[in-house]
Amino acid sequence: MSSFDQYLSRPIPCACGRAHRVPIRRIDCDMWRSDPAAGMEQLLGGRRALLLCDAHTCEAMNAPLSRRLTERGWSLTVREFGGSAPLVNDERTVGTALLDMTAEIDGIIAVGGGTVTDLGRFLGSRTGKPFVLVMTCPSMDGYASNVAGMMIGGKKKVLKDCRFPAGIFADPQVMCSAPMDLIRSGYGDMLGKRTALPDWVLARTFNGDYYCARIAGLTAESAGWCGDTAAVAALLSRDPGQVLRLTESLVLTGINMALCEDTRPASGSEHIFSHYLVESAIAAGRLPPSHGASVGFGTLVATLLYEFLLDTAAPPELAPIQAELRESLLPSDTVYALLEQSGIGGKLTDYLAGEGALREMLRACAGPEKRYTILRYLSGRSLLDSAADYVCTAMRERG
Ligand SMILES: [Zn+2]
Ligand SMILES: [Zn+2]
Repeated sequence: MSSFDQYLSRPIPCACGRAHRVPIRRIDCDMWRSDPAAGMEQLLGGRRALLLCDAHTCEAMNAPLSRRLTERGWSLTVREFGGSAPLVNDERTVGTALLDMTAEIDGIIAVGGGTVTDLGRFLGSRTGKPFVLVMTCPSMDGYASNVAGMMIGGKKKVLKDCRFPAGIFADPQVMCSAPMDLIRSGYGDMLGKRTALPDWVLARTFNGDYYCARIAGLTAESAGWCGDTAAVAALLSRDPGQVLRLTESLVLTGINMALCEDTRPASGSEHIFSHYLVESAIAAGRLPPSHGASVGFGTLVATLLYEFLLDTAAPPELAPIQAELRESLLPSDTVYALLEQSGIGGKLTDYLAGEGALREMLRACAGPEKRYTILRYLSGRSLLDSAADYVCTAMRERG
């Protein structure tokens, strides 16, 4: 994979008419190869930092990193969140972290997965301090973003006006020893790009959405390996090269969203399904599926919708973009096999109560308030019900 440096902190003139720019200054997925203390000092503009971290990564990352920074003369305030309950970015957590933010602090170092790094992102943007993050698991593609998921008044809110990290660091060994469910989740999130991309093409063609062929190409490139069963087997055995590949793909996808100034290159109908599945599980008092697992299942449903559209319905108006739509799509049998192989699970009953619930999901996700995807295309042409029949039959055949 190409180096990230070519995309960072410089205007990139593009054939799409925009000059893209990613405000992240440094990405280092093998941080101990050089001295992270020197890099972080440059990015934060000083050596006084609030270190936010999760107790789970204490031995693997928090302790060695604090030690290195202290040896280099840093003054650190360490806030380690932990305990048995999972960390939630609610008012209490934000208040606790804010109490540690003294006026002297130059910046924030957030060490962890999505939750801790979102907290750092939020705090950095609200206090005007620079922040860097150290990823500890390859679980999703949002590290290189300016969006933070917070829990406000008991409801999940995605705050879109936060800051990009000044730098992103990772230790490949720590990524390799992350819990397998988190590695799986990262894989599911990457697999989802295979349907996000044709959705973007449909939105460009039938909804006039902004589109950049270069960004779409980069996303396709980073998700290229996801259809390979050998790559999935390597991930399951924690092969260092493959975990690094997953990590870099997730980071590159984040960069693509930053280049686009929108989540469009990485998120289509499969993400709409994922949000629906997570929200309906929470509303029913059930444990929600992980982001990546539900994106993986959403990718299967979206792939079946594309099979119906391109092979069965085949409207003549799609002929000019047919090849472009097919470019990233995998056969639904392959997607199903990959979900089963990876342990994400591709059976309907892994996620929904039955066919009625599946039809309800398809209807709810095709509303005009949703981003334009294959769902709105089908619904706008009165094809959604027949598409739902097709998906239900295909799902039934797989048990
Ligand atoms: Zn462009
Ligand atoms: Zn995602």
